[in-house]
Amino acid sequence: MSIKETDKQYVMGTYNRFDLLISVGEGCYCFDEKGKRYIDLTSGIGVNCLGYCDREWADAVSKQAHTLSHTSNLYYTEPCVRLAKELCMRTGASKVFFGNSGAEANEGAIKVARKYSYDKYGKGRNKVITLINSFHGRTITTLAATGQDVFHNYFFPFTEGFRYVESGNIDALKKELDDTVCAVMIEFIQGEGGVIAQDEEYIKAVRSLCDEKDVLLIADEVQTGVGRTGTFLASEGYGIKPDITTLAKGLGGGLPVGAVLVYGKLADVMGFSSHGSTFGGNPVVCAGALKVLERIDGAFLDDVKRKGDFVRKKLEGAQGIESVSGKGLMIGIKPTSKKAADVVKEGIERGVLMLTAKDKIRLLPPLTITEKQLDEALDILLEILAE
Ligand SMILES: *Cc1c(COP(=O)(O)O)cnc(C)c1O
Repeated sequence: MSIKETDKQYVMGTYNRFDLLISVGEGCYCFDEKGKRYIDLTSGIGVNCLGYCDREWADAVSKQAHTLSHTSNLYYTEPCVRLAKELCMRTGASKVFFGNSGAEANEGAIKVARKYSYDKYGKGRNKVITLINSFHGRTITTLAATGQDVFHNYFFPFTEGFRYVESGNIDALKKELDDTVCAVMIEFIQGEGGVIAQDEEYIKAVRSLCDEKDVLLIADEVQTGVGRTGTFLASEGYGIKPDITTLAKGLGGGLPVGAVLVYGKLADVMGFSSHGSTFGGNPVVCAGALKVLERIDGAFLDDVKRKGDFVRKKLEGAQGIESVSGKGLMIGIKPTSKKAADVVKEGIERGVLMLTAKDKIRLLPPLTITEKQLDEALDILLEILAE
């Protein structure tokens, strides 16, 4: 049986896979089993921020795998400690909890928010407000947090205590912020929701509303974080500091990791036995993430911004494109008439991998992609759109 047929027989059918088997990756290119080359503008959904199999990253991971592969959180390990410190230095956060995915990081953030409120105000102040059209993960709780009805099916009962408000509408939020609310959770740019950036004024108003009521602001930066938008965190670009930031996708450079970053007054909310994860802070994963952070310096981030501008300049107003959204190398493209899914399919045939998000084509290229590689891939995209 072929690999594709075996997959269909033995892997749960939760993904509608494209007819493409990826065998090898190198930088922003990957190759199928026949050796056909693809320019990858997806990074494994924003994960491979240094591209496939970056040499320094792979060396760091492999060195750690040969030194100390895993131990439990009952003991100290250096990579975990160094990564936590580095993340705090970078972001101004006070402490970090490590898990293994974005959904898990968001679960952790919700736990921190509820416990902070419970410790300070007692029972009953536990609601979390999220935005309509948000996406926060696939666990029962993060599905409940996700403000899209299509995700609220089959798996009842969902975790209680979530309310949804229209994004960009500060009055709607004000109305919901009663004394049963402990947190507001937002994405600065809704990723799965269609690459929709919040405006700065709204975010600043949310921040000050939360401050007024001692309601915590949770920033889900699972997709926007770690340099994707041209600043290390998207919150920096918006000029605000959340109370909790969650990271995942790009953080490990290709290995599974999630992180909950808490600021200031939340540093000691989660004490002994309040949370845990067998794999969280795994040394190999942390060694990979440390290499990612080492590489993403000021010059690297400027380069991401520059390449983001390059993409916008090339696409805006081009034939077949209605609008371009997003920030940095998180890009949404609304086609005028073609269906985004069809464009992605044609892209595969012509050797360019892209994503969709709702009715948009979504690009999350490796942050290390060169302008020349972008140019080549976008020419192919423009050809498809112009047909
Ligand atoms: C991908 C994503 C998640 C879920 O992350 P997983 O690692 O798949 O659990 C949560 N929030 C946002 C904003 C995401 O983009």
